Amino acid sequence: MINLSGKVALVTGGSRGIGRAIAQLFYDAGANVVFTYITSKNEATKIAEKLRQTSTSEVLAIRADCANKEDVRSLVQSIVERFDAIDILVHNAGIWTEGAIDAMEDETWHDTMQTNLNSAFYLCREITPIMKKQKSGRIIFISSTAGQRGEAYHSHYAASKGGIISLTKSLADELGPFGIRTNCVAPGWVRTGMTEEVFSDVAFLQNIEQNNPLRYIPQPEEIAGPVLFLASDLALYINGEVLNVNGGSVLCG
Ligand code: NDP
Repeated sequence: MINLSGKVALVTGGSRGIGRAIAQLFYDAGANVVFTYITSKNEATKIAEKLRQTSTSEVLAIRADCANKEDVRSLVQSIVERFDAIDILVHNAGIWTEGAIDAMEDETWHDTMQTNLNSAFYLCREITPIMKKQKSGRIIFISSTAGQRGEAYHSHYAASKGGIISLTKSLADELGPFGIRTNCVAPGWVRTGMTEEVFSDVAFLQNIEQNNPLRYIPQPEEIAGPVLFLASDLALYINGEVLNVNGGSVLCG
């Protein structure tokens, strides 16, 4: 039912975790997919090669640091040169680090803001003129439950993800008249490289599972599905929404 044939989708941070699952699902839905990585060149190359065996749509893995505006500019230029369009932006790349507010170094705060939030500004500044010309586009950000309820010892992360929610609402209002829909998905805990270390503490993991109404932590594919829905025409009238994908652990919808 969902068919993205002929569409061009950019997924940031597609070499691992949630972004990888999104890239795969979008490709399976027929889209031409460009995904970025920053350090995982081998993984990115392997994913692209594997995907190419399953469809004739195009898939490109491009190294681009989303926190660097020059990288973002040349990333977008490469996509436009190749496809002359960008229909869907999924800004998924992000980092999650720890720090007590009274012991946090400037660098820790700034790195998180730069990677999780300023990157969204850089991407949208480059991509929205293209979407405006097309008179259509989908922007989907990956926020977090942390952006809604806060997260002790991760205040920088929570602030960056809260910023993503405000950005989603602002752009929904600003860009809606141009046929551009902006939404975000807010996952709770997900099993990825980002959470591998904290989940190696079995007691911690069990506590998280037991406090979730569904009693388990999802794989990245369970986040990718809702992202695909928002990118599809099934979601045409959804704009400025925060889609909670957390198993009911935070009932803020
Ligand atoms: P992972 O750590 O598993 O993967 C992160 C991805 O982002 C990798 O592809 C990585 O590339 C890429 N990346 C990191 N920094 C940059 C950068 N500066 N420029 C470009 N790419 C970058 O993370 P998850 O899959 O778990 O998280 C994906 C998103 O989901 C993030 O925004 C995260 O905040 C959010 N989220 C995750 C949750 C979870 O429990 N996992 C919960 C709620 C939200 P490379 O492989 O090359 O390093």
